[in-house]
Amino acid sequence: MSTQQPLVLVVNSGSSSVKFRLLPADGGPSLLAGLAESLGTTGPARLIIRKGEARHVEELPGNCHMTALRAIFSHIERNGWLHRVAAVGHRVVHGGERFARSVLVTPDVIADIEAVSVLAPLHNAANLLGIRSCSELFPAIAQVAVFDTAFHQSMPPEAYTYAIPFRFYREHGIRRYGFHGTSFRYVAQRAVEMLALDPKDHGVVIAHLGNGASVCAVRNGASCDTSMGLTPLEGLVMGTRSGDLDVGAAAHMARVDGLDLTGVEGLLNRQSGLLGLSELSSDCRTLELAADTGHEGAALALDVFVHRLARYIGALATSLHRFDALVFTGGIGENSARVRDMTLKHLRVFGFVLDAKANGHMAGGVCGRIDSGTGPQAWVIPTDEEGLIARDAVRLTGLHEPERLAA
Ligand code: ADP
Repeated sequence: MSTQQPLVLVVNSGSSSVKFRLLPADGGPSLLAGLAESLGTTGPARLIIRKGEARHVEELPGNCHMTALRAIFSHIERNGWLHRVAAVGHRVVHGGERFARSVLVTPDVIADIEAVSVLAPLHNAANLLGIRSCSELFPAIAQVAVFDTAFHQSMPPEAYTYAIPFRFYREHGIRRYGFHGTSFRYVAQRAVEMLALDPKDHGVVIAHLGNGASVCAVRNGASCDTSMGLTPLEGLVMGTRSGDLDVGAAAHMARVDGLDLTGVEGLLNRQSGLLGLSELSSDCRTLELAADTGHEGAALALDVFVHRLARYIGALATSLHRFDALVFTGGIGENSARVRDMTLKHLRVFGFVLDAKANGHMAGGVCGRIDSGTGPQAWVIPTDEEGLIARDAVRLTGLHEPERLAA
């Protein structure tokens, strides 16, 4: 790798945090990564930077996104890399129907992101803060927006339309959009390579299982169905989110607890899922340890998580024309042999046979096959959302052209 090779900064700007990674434009490991947290809160904001094995923590006196990004840029400068930053790739949560792929940021694109922000006000506002701060700090550096929803824009109407009065879709865009699209797109591409699938004739179901979790059916490289909906609340049981729930149950919860709709929405987003069920933790690893020592709530939470997951995988398989493989990814999918084992057992009707030894080896970023059967294959493929955002930024800013790389 040339020492003057262009670099891409990947920014994931949340409501109270900014995560970042600085990567070489031609791929390879990140040079610098980190997290600014507690932004805009009453607590002291701080920046944590990782460079190789070294870790540096500093307080952020300004306590806002602009200060955080300025501090991040100043670390890049101190390492002598600032002049090599040729593009910034931003994660944007909701692209609505306007964005089916990643785009170069222009004033029109910002206006369009604002227009769809009504569908995810908190997330998109935070993402826009990151975009605006970077454009203000470094107007000469090209910016690219990569949308969580974009990959699912290939879903057919029967998969994305809610059975509610149609005017809600027509007038307000209320439909299923799906999320985790960058992860699904990356893993779907890797699955074609790893499993030597025919790019024009394959069907896989990908389970992205992290704090947020969703499943996607991918037909010939395109999303044709997914478990999340208008918001990331629908579908699977998650760390603190309930996933699917009878709306009648939500209404009854509101009545018995004296809550309004916003109150119930908050309860279902932040106090439910693994946390609500176990009354212990939203963290899968903690629950596995607790279940082993007899914690009934933890065991129940894991059982409900896996039951819902298996049900969704089965349902999404019916959106495919063939079922080549099930792929696990995300923090739980990549690391929890127990959840994978339980899930494949639930799915025995599909003919999955677990290779327990191979399953036990898959953790910490290892990629490989975990079944030994003759039915659909089961795989673990670690995701790399930041890597894909960087590659989109490289492609859209023309950095992959040889003359630009040599400059
Ligand atoms: P996010 O959605 O915030 O990006 P991650 O993809 O990092 O989340 O996933 C976090 C989840 O992965 C947590 O529930 C954590 O407990 C789980 N996890 C990480 N490592 C393991 C492990 N070795 N065994 C079981 N669960 C794990």
